[in-house]
Amino acid sequence: MLRLDFHPTGRHFLQIPGPSPVPDRVLRAMSYPTIDHRGPEFAALGLKVLADMKKIFQTKQPVIIYPASGTGAWEAALVNTLSAGDHVLMYETGHFAFLWQKLATRLGLKTEVISHPGAEVWRHGVQASLIEARLKADTGHTIRAVCVVHNETSTGVTSDIAAVRKAIDAAKHPALLLVDTISGLASADYRHDEWGVDVSISGSQKGLMLPPGISFNAVSAKALEASKKATLPKAFWAWDEIIEMNKTGYWPSTPNTNLLYALSEACDMLLEHGLETVFARHQRWAKGMRAAVNAWGLQIQCADASLYSPVLTGVMMPQGIDADAVRKIIYERFDCSLGTGLGKVKGKMFRIGHLGDCNDLTLMAALSGCEMGLKLAGVKLAGSGVQAAMDHFSSHAAVVPQRKAA
Ligand SMILES: *Cc1c(COP(=O)(O)O)cnc(C)c1O
Repeated sequence: MLRLDFHPTGRHFLQIPGPSPVPDRVLRAMSYPTIDHRGPEFAALGLKVLADMKKIFQTKQPVIIYPASGTGAWEAALVNTLSAGDHVLMYETGHFAFLWQKLATRLGLKTEVISHPGAEVWRHGVQASLIEARLKADTGHTIRAVCVVHNETSTGVTSDIAAVRKAIDAAKHPALLLVDTISGLASADYRHDEWGVDVSISGSQKGLMLPPGISFNAVSAKALEASKKATLPKAFWAWDEIIEMNKTGYWPSTPNTNLLYALSEACDMLLEHGLETVFARHQRWAKGMRAAVNAWGLQIQCADASLYSPVLTGVMMPQGIDADAVRKIIYERFDCSLGTGLGKVKGKMFRIGHLGDCNDLTLMAALSGCEMGLKLAGVKLAGSGVQAAMDHFSSHAAVVPQRKAA
């Protein structure tokens, strides 16, 4: 029999950048009885989560919720706004940007990829000036959409989306702006309306602290207009029927009721703290993690200090060290899962997630596992990252509400 409750002792440290650790409050909410998705109680739940998600996306425009992983919401963004053969400009920040481009190609779109000049392609964010120059050169306006990843989960680089919007405007180009914030939303600052994004794409199992299984499109008025003319085949993903039924709190097909309980609970938790506080809490944790990596004398994957991700840190291995061998030791000896290097950086780096249900001490535990594992793998460390992170956390008070002793 497969033991799904395999439990060596204590808690497992799920330090991958998604799925992230799910708070107990959210897990308990999922265990409420499944209700009639056409009944009156369901409508109240549907309307609540739709309203909550607008706050999370910082938008007044429609948010669509799909019973699908993030990949489904990627596809939905494209099929609702584009037609076969349409030319889209995509920016290769890392593995997820690459996968989105592969998906767009399979849908029959003509993709053009821009990437960082030079060798370090997967260590940087979107350079908006390259997009602006490309759009200015597109005098016939054949490019229909610009697709970028906000928080590139394969590298730990968070791109400046407001700068991309400015670049499109500066080029006076009508292309839609489609943004993947699957791992950024609800942990890294994200503003759908203010940044002028046409379709924002997100998923449940990263910053939103839920299990995998739901994903989102936040859409602009311009994207809705485009959806009326877009002819890529769509049925399940079509926004129009969903938006229509959502007006009364329902969906055309069966939504995943128990995950929507979880979503409601997670939104309550995020909004109780306030988004500003949530963003600051991840920035503070990220600084502690980087203090550790710097003290070890290892390189951070993100080469641009202004674009460090608040939700994960990519740690590069010295020449001759296989990052996956290090991860294996940490997993087997210390019951801690770290993110593998994906695609071009496989074996060269690992990723530590600091999103979902964390606190200073769970992150310290993860860093202890990393430090012991790195030493066991024969990595020569310059100093103690654990000590550096302790120094950081003890000298910077937590931003979230703390318990008070009697
Ligand atoms: C996780 C992730 C995806 C893929 O989402 P799935 O839920 O695995 O389908 C896409 N983009 C980014 C940036 C991600 O982090």
